[in-house]
Amino acid sequence: MLRPGGVEEGLLMNETLMDVDVSRLPKDPMPPDMWQDRAACYGIDPEVFFPASEEDASLALSYCGACSIRDTCLAWALKNRERYGVWGGLTEQQRRRISRHVA
Ligand code: SF4
Repeated sequence: MLRPGGVEEGLLMNETLMDVDVSRLPKDPMPPDMWQDRAACYGIDPEVFFPASEEDASLALSYCGACSIRDTCLAWALKNRERYGVWGGLTEQQRRRISRHVA
């Protein structure tokens, strides 16, 4: 269930999966146009973040690993059910796994 202006209700639980403590993510993340200029991926070819396979995501994940706004990015992706690409240091499959696990 999606809360107005917040992340999915289930994600508000103290949930730790894949080294992500979902309870610590921003509850009402700002949209990307508010923080993308501070992102480690700013100016990088967007195709890097939409790899053909999970195995090809390592370059994107390395940017995320050095990104100061990773939590905001991940919270935004989960809240908005971004289906494609790498967001907040997680691949499509990893985000789906989190969503299923806490649903
Ligand atoms: S966490 Fe990754 S995808 Fe999100 S803004 Fe940072 S580098 Fe870009």
